[in-house]
Amino acid sequence: MSTTSTKTRLDEVDDLSRAYPDVPPEAIFKEDILRTGIDFSEDALRISSGFKPKSYFIFSFDRRPIAGLERGEHLRAPEEVALEGGPRGFRRTVVSVRLLPGSPYLVDVRDGRLELLVEGVPVASVELQDTPRYYRRTLANGKPITEMAPTIEWGYLVYLTVYRKCQYFGFQEECQFCDINENYRQQKAAGRPYNTVKAVDEILEALQIIDEEDVERRSKAYTITGGSITEHLRGKGEAEFYAAYARAINARFPGRWISKVVVQALPREDLLAFRDAGVQIYHPNYEVWDARLFSVLCPGKDRYVGRGEWIRRVVDAAEIFGPSHVIPNFVAGIELARPHGFERIEDALASTGEGLEFFMSKGITPRFTTWCPEPLSVLGRDQGPTPLAYHAGLLRLWRETLQRHKLPAPPGYGEPGPGRAVFSVSAFMDALPVDTPVAAV
Ligand code: SF4
Repeated sequence: MSTTSTKTRLDEVDDLSRAYPDVPPEAIFKEDILRTGIDFSEDALRISSGFKPKSYFIFSFDRRPIAGLERGEHLRAPEEVALEGGPRGFRRTVVSVRLLPGSPYLVDVRDGRLELLVEGVPVASVELQDTPRYYRRTLANGKPITEMAPTIEWGYLVYLTVYRKCQYFGFQEECQFCDINENYRQQKAAGRPYNTVKAVDEILEALQIIDEEDVERRSKAYTITGGSITEHLRGKGEAEFYAAYARAINARFPGRWISKVVVQALPREDLLAFRDAGVQIYHPNYEVWDARLFSVLCPGKDRYVGRGEWIRRVVDAAEIFGPSHVIPNFVAGIELARPHGFERIEDALASTGEGLEFFMSKGITPRFTTWCPEPLSVLGRDQGPTPLAYHAGLLRLWRETLQRHKLPAPPGYGEPGPGRAVFSVSAFMDALPVDTPVAAV
């Protein structure tokens, strides 16, 4: 998908903000930064390296492999930036950092302060999150908290990638937008202390440290996740493996965090095991709605489970967790990725909208992460991101479908609305009115 245009980035964002006056302009900027990637000047990197760093919590989410980050940006850039104020009066907008040297979006230092520039034009002030106290501690065996239990969403979510690889392996099986296995390899090669499997006891120890140090109780939820397990991992199937973490956490820290898992669409008996382990929110990600694209872009999931069965299991899960607590993710933008995707933005939106209608009519609320073509994934090797017009249209479509079905905001993402949302890898929470009720957990 080409992004070639004679318009400046600001022209395009402003045109779309006029076309979608009901979508907060900050949300359109956020989508553009997420799909495009962001750069940091040397001065900005120097300042950023004193704040909460990028943890590479599961995928790379960068537009360059580490080998192409010649200034060591992967070790010096922050996990997230909060955009606020500036000439456009930004309401606070939290954005995950996806690195792209040379991006039109540049964080630089002006008059001693961090600022976001778009093709040289200042748009907002940049705030960084202080390094939390728990990041300064390690487990007894020396493993860092940044690896064992990093937090994202400005500290709201503890992200527990307990298995750093995926058993969908190679071109025939891996989801074509995903770089989990390649990212594991590049991080290990770069010397980051990535662990393939984290022990349950290590996770408990890391959470103990967070619980002790996070006295303001900023962390409100945890997610247990990792790659798919098609056979066995350490003698356990997928549900048995991941449920063991939830069971142990919820027994040790009852009620401390909202409990979420991101695993495959699993059969009913497996879901009962998760529920019995104390899991409250289930994310069986369907990635893309269109049946043809699902089979091409998620070949492993299609072969082992099948798209029809996947969808049935998502729907059945509502009986176990409650519809509002089943929140399947899709990767916004891959609908248009070459060579298999839709040619026209309106067709991609129509397809995605059909999926939203299907699930939301049942009280299930899909949410999305914004696709950033990772160069180590199959789809990201030789193409840029999806046009911003798709992402702006999707924000409206998602919100309108939610509102038409009178659904609350999904639980486990913090507060909705511009100025408040902390979910950082897409702008769906930013696009909701601030008075949108959130489903109770
Ligand atoms: S199931 Fe697909 S998206 Fe998930 S980790 Fe495996 S390859 Fe990546």
